Amino acid sequence: MAWTLADGDCKDLTREWNAWETAYTAARTTVERAAALTEPAAVCAGCPVTFECAELAWLSGYTGIAGGQGYRNGQPDDLRQRRPMRRRRDTA
Ligand code: SF4
Repeated sequence: MAWTLADGDCKDLTREWNAWETAYTAARTTVERAAALTEPAAVCAGCPVTFECAELAWLSGYTGIAGGQGYRNGQPDDLRQRRPMRRRRDTA
């Protein structure tokens, strides 16, 4: 059976999904990103096309939330620091 993302549980949550992705994108730490994923991940947990959605996110280079996790350019974005602290220069 063919599937589309229209089969997904997020199909009627466009406004909420945009807000969740905006919050996720703005999050600067792994803790903030995990918090931003709480609500959309709960939706994805019951979705019938979670696997296919995650695969499409990977194949399409998606940036956002799909399949219950965050993606950046098609790669899972769970643990990476987006803006690692700069190293201090030795002043001695
Ligand atoms: S897995 Fe999540 S993002 Fe993907 S279609 Fe289902 S509810 Fe939507």
